[in-house]
Amino acid sequence: MKTILIVEDVELNRELLVQLLEDDYRLELAADGASALERAAEAKPDLILMDLSLPRMDGWEATRRLKADEALSRIPVIVLSAHAMRGDEERARASGCDDFLTKPIDETLLFDKIARHLGD
Ligand SMILES: [Mg+2]
Repeated sequence: MKTILIVEDVELNRELLVQLLEDDYRLELAADGASALERAAEAKPDLILMDLSLPRMDGWEATRRLKADEALSRIPVIVLSAHAMRGDEERARASGCDDFLTKPIDETLLFDKIARHLGD
């Protein structure tokens, strides 16, 4: 079973993602960008779902640091953004994320993108 790291500061959103994914994936959780880097280094997840607005370190910066780390840079990062603004996607892409989803999350799209990036 592959491992997905969910990075989301709002508990309700985190729980929703857990409910959607827990049957098919092993899940790791982080509630801020700094913890996300720690969990990624420890758990070596196969994929990361990254919220953008996060305490301690935002999702853009956490993604940039993940992609600058040779040991972690190959992990696909799918950004989840509540900001449906064009600038956010461009900023996220510039930070090195592999894909982008806007909230509220479309479940079919979420599963499709995860499967594609995991090569399933
Ligand atoms: Mg947030």
